[in-house]
Amino acid sequence: MKTIVAGSLNIDFVIPIDRFPGPGETVLGGNLSFTPGGKGANQAVAAAKLGMHTLMAGAIGNDAYGKQVRESLESSGVDTTLLVTQAATTGVALIHLTSDGENRIIVCPGANEHFEVSEQLRAQLATADALMLQLEIPIDRVAKLIDLANEHHVPVFLDPSPVREAAVALLSKVDWVMPNEHEIEWMTGQSVQDVKTARIAIAKLLQLGAKRVVLKMGPLGAMVGDESGFQHVPGFQVNAVDTTAAGDGFGAGFVTEWVQTGDVHRALRYGNAVGALVTTKVGAQVSLPSREAVSALLQDPSPT
Ligand code: ADP
Repeated sequence: MKTIVAGSLNIDFVIPIDRFPGPGETVLGGNLSFTPGGKGANQAVAAAKLGMHTLMAGAIGNDAYGKQVRESLESSGVDTTLLVTQAATTGVALIHLTSDGENRIIVCPGANEHFEVSEQLRAQLATADALMLQLEIPIDRVAKLIDLANEHHVPVFLDPSPVREAAVALLSKVDWVMPNEHEIEWMTGQSVQDVKTARIAIAKLLQLGAKRVVLKMGPLGAMVGDESGFQHVPGFQVNAVDTTAAGDGFGAGFVTEWVQTGDVHRALRYGNAVGALVTTKVGAQVSLPSREAVSALLQDPSPT
């Protein structure tokens, strides 16, 4: 089984704060850390750590951060054949993180803006079992990759983040769209507080053209919906300290299990386990769990 993740690679500057500053206000942060991140790279590392043969297609800069990003991928077992170094700065994300695990993020794309669909990527795509995409690279290249995957009947999983108008036009072209509560509200106008409102929001996204929706619902777990109905799987109870990369981990977990078993319920439960474990540690790629850790939680889901 082979998954291609095409998307962003960043260095995450994580700034711990007591609370978010208001307009014009300055607050003091705690100890700054910088670690590899980016939605694409996070998904790739997550999938590789779960045992999937994973290729990361993306662009890094010719700087020290680029080297750090590449090393992080390779040490996690990601195939970097499709990773390209550009004459640009590596992407950067400034992550403000409060002590109760909430985050606000600003991304400077850098080299990610220079990502191109190479001949090598086209060739690999022809034999892939899944393509995972997000929206941190230029949207025309995302659209091109979706068309290529469709030509080769490769299932496409789109994380519509950061959400924007252009994402809506892609909904009908992908097999699975995987928003969180904020993204689905942005696209449908329907807020999600519980299972009932989740169904309404998913139904609205299906009306907008989505074929299958997997809604990530934080501690409430996840819900899938398509024309045949809805299925909700509750989340695992854990001591969440940082939700960064929970959605990326969930997505990789869902895809890994779905590609191997074709069982949506199992894939939801597996994704929930990965997402929950990610929230128990601070950071993006450093918090992504191994296959063994996920198996342990699935076997003994008693609260940690
Ligand atoms: P995103 O990170 O994209 O905003 P979510 O916050 O919904 O997405 O998290 C993704 C998944 O991670 C959820 O669907 C759930 O499975 C898991 N998760 C997130 N937060 C928690 C939590 N506090 N407790 C348990 N599981 C969680």
